[in-house]
Amino acid sequence: MTDLADIRAAFLDYFAEEGHAVVPSSPLVPRNDPTLLFANSGMVQFKNLFTGVETRDYARATSAQKCVRAGGKHNDLDNVGYTRRHHTFFEMLGNFSFGDYFKEEAIPYSWQLVTGKLGIDPSRLLVTVYHDDDEAAALWKKVAGLPDERIIRIATADNFWMMGPTGPCGPCSEIFFDHGEAYWGGPPGSPEEDGDRFVEIWNLVFMQFEQHEDGTRTPLPRPSIDTGMGIERVAALLQGTNDNYATDLMRALIEASAHATNTDPDGDGRTHHRVIADHIRSTSFLIADGVLPSKDGRGYVLRRIMRRAMRHAHLLGARDPLMYRLVPELVRQMGAAYPELGQAQALIEETLRGEEERFKTTLDRGLSLLDAEVAELGEGEPLSGEAAFKLYDTYGFPLDMTQDALREMGREVDLPGFGSAMDAQKAQARAAWAGTGEVGETALWFDLVEEHGATEFLGYDTEASEAAV
Ligand code: ATP
Ligand code: MG
Ligand code: MG
Ligand code: MG
Repeated sequence: MTDLADIRAAFLDYFAEEGHAVVPSSPLVPRNDPTLLFANSGMVQFKNLFTGVETRDYARATSAQKCVRAGGKHNDLDNVGYTRRHHTFFEMLGNFSFGDYFKEEAIPYSWQLVTGKLGIDPSRLLVTVYHDDDEAAALWKKVAGLPDERIIRIATADNFWMMGPTGPCGPCSEIFFDHGEAYWGGPPGSPEEDGDRFVEIWNLVFMQFEQHEDGTRTPLPRPSIDTGMGIERVAALLQGTNDNYATDLMRALIEASAHATNTDPDGDGRTHHRVIADHIRSTSFLIADGVLPSKDGRGYVLRRIMRRAMRHAHLLGARDPLMYRLVPELVRQMGAAYPELGQAQALIEETLRGEEERFKTTLDRGLSLLDAEVAELGEGEPLSGEAAFKLYDTYGFPLDMTQDALREMGREVDLPGFGSAMDAQKAQARAAWAGTGEVGETALWFDLVEEHGATEFLGYDTEASEAAV
């Protein structure tokens, strides 16, 4: 019982038996929330049930939700290639109570599922609770028999969840797995918590307060439960690794990438293959859910992921479009669970290939320019804002892609310089347009930038508000 299909079925069956409605994943583009870029947790499709705006014929539900965290408040794009446990696309398993059961049931459910149904060794588990949540701490002690040192009290926002500036909120409790002394890292709350040893697998949110405009909190009359478990992390630990990219699914994608580029999956290009394996999932799933590459908003986030992947393919020596060739393997791996992938396969392949063909020439030239610019820099000197802007404006390099390239070399972009170069170009373009009286695309562009701000228009921090588990 170690692959995704088995884990997903075990989770959903467990909660179905406990009277939960099994609700299918919502699309990645949220229907009920225009301020949110992508579904980034299981609770997104249930927001209106938690606030009481909507009721359905069930008060408890379970789901396996497609999530993308590649923009806005929950952005793991920069973690990919650097950690073993973050993806831009992943699947979140969750159980939800809409004013039905609360902590007294949610904690035993999770413990029973993890140690019973999934068979995870209880002696490898530890949990966190919000520092003042004595109730949760007592329940963990009673239900799981965990000693005090494995019930860690955390006082930071990591363990207090809020849906937004106002609305439902409450303490969280996270379940961690200890992969053992062979790995560097410390328990949550310690300075080494971001190491590879202790990995968060499940987050339980206890929605018990309502946050008001004036900053006060009152208890919710009917508290709710919202949980999220990362299926890839659980698959990794059940497969005896702390590295999501070593699991059968990710490994198949990495091998497809190695095969298509005729390179060693574990050689110098190891990180490139990992990034590509991640990005083929997020780009394909986004396209399957109707997102197409574009200059702004969701489409620009997609384009940024695509272009980042293309740079990594280029570094592996690929001179012809690569990403579209990996789609069949992805469909083989995930098409059964997500039929929309197979249905959209032709569109996904065409979109990836078209984008790769269009970007190829400027990618090659831009990367040469970047190399030349970097060669001129002194030790630790950032890349000038003008150079980064030229890469953006002339060569189509999203800023974060340039930053990603520089990070490998231990360098950064001069961001204020980038902003000034952008402003200067806008002013110049405006002057050139003044007096023509024409209303065209460019005028529209300025309106949009004015309305939303340049950074938002570029696809950064596109959300006004964002909620996740
Ligand atoms: P982390 O602290 O590891 O970044 P998180 O606290 O941001 O995780 P939550 O928002 O609590 O994550 O999401 C619930 C669960 O989803 C996590 O416990 C984890 O198992 C999984 N998860 C979160 N982000 C990712 C990701 N980028 N890739 C894969 N799984 C993830
Ligand atoms: Mg996170
Ligand atoms: Mg966390
Ligand atoms: Mg968490």
